[in-house]
Amino acid sequence: MRAFRQGLLTNFCIDRRIVKALLLTEYKQLELTDIPQPEVGSDDLLIRVQACGICGSDIHGWDGSSGRRIPPLVMGHEASGIVAAVGSDVTGFSEGDRVTFDSMVSCGQCWYCRKGDSNLCESRMVLGVSCGDYRRYGAFAEFISVPQRIAFHIPDSLSFEHAAMIEAVSVAVHAANRTHVKLGDTAVVVGSGMIGLLAIQAIRLAGCGRVIATDVNERRLEVAKALGADVTVNAAEEDVPARIRELTQGRGADVALEVVGTAPTIQSAIACTRKGGSVTLVGNVTPEIELPLQEVVTRELSLHGTCGCNGEYPACIDLLESGAIQVEPLITARASLEQGADWFQRLYDGEPNAMKVLLCPGSE
Ligand SMILES: [Zn+2]
Ligand SMILES: [Zn+2]
Repeated sequence: MRAFRQGLLTNFCIDRRIVKALLLTEYKQLELTDIPQPEVGSDDLLIRVQACGICGSDIHGWDGSSGRRIPPLVMGHEASGIVAAVGSDVTGFSEGDRVTFDSMVSCGQCWYCRKGDSNLCESRMVLGVSCGDYRRYGAFAEFISVPQRIAFHIPDSLSFEHAAMIEAVSVAVHAANRTHVKLGDTAVVVGSGMIGLLAIQAIRLAGCGRVIATDVNERRLEVAKALGADVTVNAAEEDVPARIRELTQGRGADVALEVVGTAPTIQSAIACTRKGGSVTLVGNVTPEIELPLQEVVTRELSLHGTCGCNGEYPACIDLLESGAIQVEPLITARASLEQGADWFQRLYDGEPNAMKVLLCPGSE
């Protein structure tokens, strides 16, 4: 039986067609080109990509600064699509199913995976990343192949565009789950970019009675308000910790979520939090920062790191379907793969007020 299945699979591979993909041929150089259709292992789904978001990390990879998108590479890890073929061992998915998938491919075997912490997998790979240790093609292409264990069905009522946002939603929901919240708590979200605007919604759903959003961009703060922030504080104009204390009888917020990852914003998050409160660290653009150690120790703050998501996909799908989390205000543009290179350049150049740009293979 085993040999028979492998035989089928080999035949399938020999028949591999050529598919269109947006290939990073060298840094800052994206070409729409033909590549062999991704191989489909016995446990894999071949997915016809319908939408894939450009992530900030893709921009930092495209220009070579992060070192995590070594060319040649097809990037893209925030996607959705339709199952086009399934490997011989796949159960639970069939051709035509609408799906989305996690960006992290965990091994399923290591100590962390077996314990249920797949986001901490010892040999995890991220789709659309090449960092020296591995190269894993992503979803800025007509097709992608992913293991069935990271794929999830999506309901007909959820558009492919919104489903492609679930990866980002899952980061915010996981961060909220990592935050020790009591019903009625006050939360501060430091940074109202893409993930911050999702964190505002997630931490509210986690039970916070009041959510305060900060940023230096007034336009983002308007969106934060529209998405449920009770108070917004512009860090370019106000002393954020002082303002937070003013709003909390001098104590500070119960919890803070930091989604920027620079020294001043992390220090601000710490200064905004009351004694005994907790700070959840999501942003990590800086490898190291100076920590106000005595403040953290003597005020008994809890600092929580958070990485990706761990089992939150089904909840995120429900939250989007029910409208409890809104993603439409975060979508800046929908574009074709052909327009992908242009959008990378525009986002790199700092396109004003840009949030999520979705590339939709198959659209004109
Ligand atoms: Zn991403
Ligand atoms: Zn593992």
